[in-house]
Amino acid sequence: MAEFTMELNEDQRGVRDWIHGFAAEVMRPAAAEWDEREEFPWPVVQEAARIGLYSLDFYAQQFFDPTGLGIPMAMEELFWGDAGLGLAITGTGLAAIGVLTNGTEEQIGTWLPQMYGDADDVKIAAFCSSEPDAGSDVSAMRTRAVYDEAKDEWVLNGTKTWATNGGIANVHVVVAVVDPELGARGHASFIVPPGTPGLSQGQKFKKHGIRASHTAEVVLDGVRLPGHCLLGGKDKLDERLARARERVRAGGARTHNAAMATFEASRPTVGAQAVGIARAAYEVALDYAQTRVQFGRPVIDNQGVAFQLADMRTRIDAARLLVWRASWMATAGKPFTSAEGSMSKLFAGETAKAVTAQAMQILGGNGYTRDYPVERMHRDAAIYTIFEGTSEIQRLVIARTISDVPIR
Ligand SMILES: Cc1cc2nc3c(=O)[nH]c(=O)nc-3n(C[C@H](O)[C@H](O)[C@H](O)COP(=O)(O)OP(=O)(O)OC[C@H]3O[C@@H](n4cnc5c(N)ncnc54)[C@H](O)[C@@H]3O)c2cc1C
Repeated sequence: MAEFTMELNEDQRGVRDWIHGFAAEVMRPAAAEWDEREEFPWPVVQEAARIGLYSLDFYAQQFFDPTGLGIPMAMEELFWGDAGLGLAITGTGLAAIGVLTNGTEEQIGTWLPQMYGDADDVKIAAFCSSEPDAGSDVSAMRTRAVYDEAKDEWVLNGTKTWATNGGIANVHVVVAVVDPELGARGHASFIVPPGTPGLSQGQKFKKHGIRASHTAEVVLDGVRLPGHCLLGGKDKLDERLARARERVRAGGARTHNAAMATFEASRPTVGAQAVGIARAAYEVALDYAQTRVQFGRPVIDNQGVAFQLADMRTRIDAARLLVWRASWMATAGKPFTSAEGSMSKLFAGETAKAVTAQAMQILGGNGYTRDYPVERMHRDAAIYTIFEGTSEIQRLVIARTISDVPIR
């Protein structure tokens, strides 16, 4: 197990600089166009695949980096480039993590390559958990999976919403209720293979920010899946459900602790994306404040502006430290005794929102226009207090963890 370090090693610095080059030369020049078009940016993702940045190999390498810093470092650089394009490139990762954490070795070997495709035939994947009536409250999920024993098939019915890459993905990972009596413990995840009848895209959402990322409803109408599409397999599910029934009988919680642990481990990844956006906006503002002259001097000569920049930089560095700590803890297998994963996502998300707003202010009228990138960064940053658990839900998790009180 690697000790916690704040210094990237030579390999990591090389990877960071390589991603930075892609972010600066490919993503930045394309960002405004794809934001306006509000379409999935296939050419950018294809270019990332061509150089090996959008590939299973690349993510596996970073994921298994023993220092835990590979993924947050990669995320920060990509999202420094642009958040909408960054999500288009990394959105498949959500579904990939779903398979990695719940799937058998055979399922991982079969489905992960189909989620990414290859440089000549790029594919994407979607993770579908949220529903119109089950956002923060995952236990309210209604999409039902019923086992047809005679055929060894699962039949899925329901509507998923807010799915990143939903409907345009090659592979969908869908969370569904297999035992409604058990709340979130009665859920299971399924692979929906390419071209499965009954899965269709509902409405595609028009969004405030991250507009190059595709977000849509996914409708499941009598979707029949072979038994092997249940992640983890039937025996493991039956064992898990039996344990959950026992706990519920004994008066235990209906929340799923294993799922909570997975969220804690993945939240710093999202936090790192927010750090990237904040850093990008801060850099634009720092540069602008030094060159924009009013009252005969650069606006940074005013403490009112300079102190804002000092606060912005301090918050960004603090956010990165929280993200790196939680990422290292996840890799080192340390227990999140104070919900450090949620802390990192909460602080980084709020930082991105605040810092991008300050950057707009420092750019004055220009900051409010689409001629400068900070208004897009501010729109993009706003999602970081909403998805992957809202800021309120992160606070709830942290408060419950530090107090052991079932705060509502
Ligand atoms: C662009 C985008 C992409 C997304 N991508 C995906 C995806 O790929 N896959 C997927 O499954 N989901 C995805 N989501 C869904 C996302 O995770 C949910 O939007 C989020 O969990 C919040 O759920 P909700 O929107 O239903 O809000 P609600 O749960 O309805 O919350 C409304 C408000 O009430 C607050 N609130 C709720 N409960 C509490 C409480 N107990 N205490 C205090 N405050 C509370 C919330 O914080 C929020 O401010 C995405 C969403 C967006 C917008």
